[in-house]
Amino acid sequence: MDDSRNIVIIGGGVTGISCLYFLVNHPKFNRERDTITLFESSGIASAASGKASGFLSLEWHGPSTSSLASLSYNLHKQLADEYNGQQKWGYRSLDTWSIKADEKCTYPDKLSPDIEWIEPSIVEKVTRLGNKKNSAQVHPYKFCHAIFEEASKIANVNLVKGHVISVDENEVEYRLIGDDYAPDEDEEITSVEELHTIHSMEASHVIVAAGPWTPHLIPNLRICGARIHSITVDLPMRLNGNAVFSEIVYADGTIGAPEFYAREDELYVCGEFDDEPLPELSSETRIDQRRCQAIKECADHFHPVIRDSNVKVRQACYLPISNATGAPVIGKIGSSIYVAAAHGCWGITLGPGTGKVLSEMVLDGKVSSANIDLLDPEGSFV
Ligand SMILES: Cc1cc2nc3c(=O)[nH]c(=O)nc-3n(C[C@H](O)[C@H](O)[C@H](O)COP(=O)(O)OP(=O)(O)OC[C@H]3O[C@@H](n4cnc5c(N)ncnc54)[C@H](O)[C@@H]3O)c2cc1C
Repeated sequence: MDDSRNIVIIGGGVTGISCLYFLVNHPKFNRERDTITLFESSGIASAASGKASGFLSLEWHGPSTSSLASLSYNLHKQLADEYNGQQKWGYRSLDTWSIKADEKCTYPDKLSPDIEWIEPSIVEKVTRLGNKKNSAQVHPYKFCHAIFEEASKIANVNLVKGHVISVDENEVEYRLIGDDYAPDEDEEITSVEELHTIHSMEASHVIVAAGPWTPHLIPNLRICGARIHSITVDLPMRLNGNAVFSEIVYADGTIGAPEFYAREDELYVCGEFDDEPLPELSSETRIDQRRCQAIKECADHFHPVIRDSNVKVRQACYLPISNATGAPVIGKIGSSIYVAAAHGCWGITLGPGTGKVLSEMVLDGKVSSANIDLLDPEGSFV
């Protein structure tokens, strides 16, 4: 009897890439006999997984994800140590702060001198939220690409630039989006019209890790996407590791609440949700330049050095959210289909842990590294 496996993963975001990495590293994955295929329709980390801030938190998780978060936070550290993540994907520990600012502040609080890009005189109240033991960061786009590369060194990964259109027990149907696919961020795939003939592939196991697009493949699963814009600013100095959740009262009495994440070579600033519908492909995500400009103008109030610096990147992506439980959906559906999606605002933190538990679910038949009982898909269907 041929018991070789062809494991299919749909989605090349942090969840799918982490599943790929931990599957090929699992002792029961037979590198000679088993095959593994990754379908990605728009490019590795083309969606939220490449555009998130990449903040990692050990502690800010509820009962359903705390075990997974602690596994995942430690795996991030191990991966960074093993592959020089400090250099390759900007892994570093952080201090985390809540800062209330007021342009008319009269009694400033004491601001850490490490945060050179906030004007101390406007800082009304500083509260420490995290320290270098429980907060860290990665550059998520670089992390996904590096982990994909490491997985590809271990096994022969079949990367298909294709849009999966249906998933069934032991089979997926898909359309190719171009023959010469390489995971290159400069490659442009812009329209569904480029999709053509329907192909099918047999699979021993199918893992759907398609972020907010997951319900397109698993109907009635209550997951949706919310668009968020962000920018990075090219400050003229090396930035220390700080994440800042801010509130500011401007001189005219209006308020703002940007989130800042200082990477060594740029300041990432995140805006708010809007209600722009999810496009068919991640590469069709529309960027509203006015929203990016509004984020920059808000950040400009925090320090002249921000005001005088240029925006490097203006981007938008969709946060994958469960509107059933608010928690990630991780588990088996049917006899050969698995789902790992809806990680909300913690998908980068939870990525490696999700990959690890999925690899156990698929190859051991049970999860041993974390307790994910409350993430079972059962309660997430309409
Ligand atoms: C602005 C912002 C900031 C964030 N900051 C943080 C943070 O600081 N820390 C943190 O932990 N998390 C953060 N997150 C959350 C995190 O980014 C997400 O939870 C995570 O990236 C989700 O990863 P994913 O792989 O599940 O989905 P995605 O990144 O959405 O990837 C899904 C992939 O599947 C592909 N795909 C979809 N359908 C198909 C199909 N039919 N066929 C083939 N391919 C398909 C898509 O092209 C896409 O590449 C942030 C999110 C946003 C939006």
